[in-house]
Amino acid sequence: MAEIRYDGQVVVITGGGAGLGKTYAKFFAARGAKVVVNDLGGTFNGKPGANAAVADVVVKEIKDAGGEAVANYNAVQEGEKIVKTAIYNYGRVDVLINNAGILRDITIRNMKDEDWDVIMDVHVTGAMRTARAAWPFFRKQRYGKVINTSSSSGLFGNFGQANYAAAKMALVGFTETLAKEGLKYNIHCNVLAPAAASRLTQTVWPPEMMEAMNPASVVPLVGVLVHPSCSETGSIFEAGAGHYSKIRWQRSKGFIARPDDSLTPDVVLRNYDKIIDFSKGSSYPKGVANSVDLLEEAMAQPSNVR
Ligand code: NAD
Repeated sequence: MAEIRYDGQVVVITGGGAGLGKTYAKFFAARGAKVVVNDLGGTFNGKPGANAAVADVVVKEIKDAGGEAVANYNAVQEGEKIVKTAIYNYGRVDVLINNAGILRDITIRNMKDEDWDVIMDVHVTGAMRTARAAWPFFRKQRYGKVINTSSSSGLFGNFGQANYAAAKMALVGFTETLAKEGLKYNIHCNVLAPAAASRLTQTVWPPEMMEAMNPASVVPLVGVLVHPSCSETGSIFEAGAGHYSKIRWQRSKGFIARPDDSLTPDVVLRNYDKIIDFSKGSSYPKGVANSVDLLEEAMAQPSNVR
C-alpha cells in the first residue's frame, strides 16, 4: 500500500520543540514536508527559563535524517512572525498545527488573574494569531488544513484546571467557526484532544501509563486529518495510546413549549424528564441553524395551559 506523504507541502507546527510537537515535526519531515518548527523553549508553566535551542535540536535531527525544516523562536502570541518564517523560507503554508501549550494548574479558589490570563494568551490568542496570519495564504491558494489542540480537560472539565479547560474548550468553538468560514475556500479545521506522555503529563500519570502513552501514537490521526485526501472539517477527535475516536454534540429531543405567558417553571418542571431524556429522538446539531429550527417549532406550539 502506498505511504501517505506530504511532498511539496509546508507544515507549521507550534510548540514543535518537545513532546507531541516534536513528534509531529519529525513525522511530517520524514514524509516529504518542509516543516517550520516553532518553539520558544519555555518552561511547562510559561514562567521564565526559556531555552530556544529546543527548536534547533529538532531541526538538526530532521536535517540529519535528510529532511527539510527551519526553526522559529517566537511566542505563538506572535503568530504572524511564525507564518512569515514559512513564507520567507518556503513561499507557502499548507498545514498549521496549533500545538504549543502550557499549564498553570490551580483551583478556582486560589487562581490569580495571571494564572488565567497566561493560559488564555498562549492557547487561545496564540491559536488565533497563527490561524489569522495563515488564513490569507490558505484562501488565496484555496487550500489549508488547521489542527487546534484541545484536551479532555476542556471537553469534560478537570479538577484544578478551570483556566486550561476554559482555554481548551474555547478552541472547540474557535475551530468549529473557522471550519465554517473556511469551507468555501477548501480550508479544513479540526480539533484534537490528545493524550501522550510529555512533561505536561509526567506529574499526573504513573510511570506505566507514561510508557503506554507514546506521542507517536497520536500522530497517525493527525497525519490523516491534514492529508489532502481528507475532507473532514469542524470535528472533534481524541487520540492517544492507539485509541482514536470522534466526539460530537448530542441534543435530547427535549420539550418544546410555546414561548408566551403560559410558559412557567411549573410547566418546565412537569416536562423536565423529557428535557433530559436522550433515549428517543435525540439529534446531533452541527450549527446555529439547528437551533433556529427549534425556535420555529416552539412558536408553532399551542398554549402551555393544558
Ligand atoms: P510539551 O510541554 O512537551 O510541549 C509543548 C511545547 O510548547 C514546549 O516545547 C513549549 O516550549 C512550547 N510552548 C509553550 N508555550 C509556547 C509559546 N507561547 N510559544 C511557542 N511555543 C510554546 O507538551 P505536550 O504534552 O507535547 O503538549 C502539546 C499540546 O497538547 C499542548 O497544547 C497541550 O495542552 C496539549 N495536550 C497534551 C496532552 C498530553 O497528554 N500530553 C493532553 C491534552 C492536551
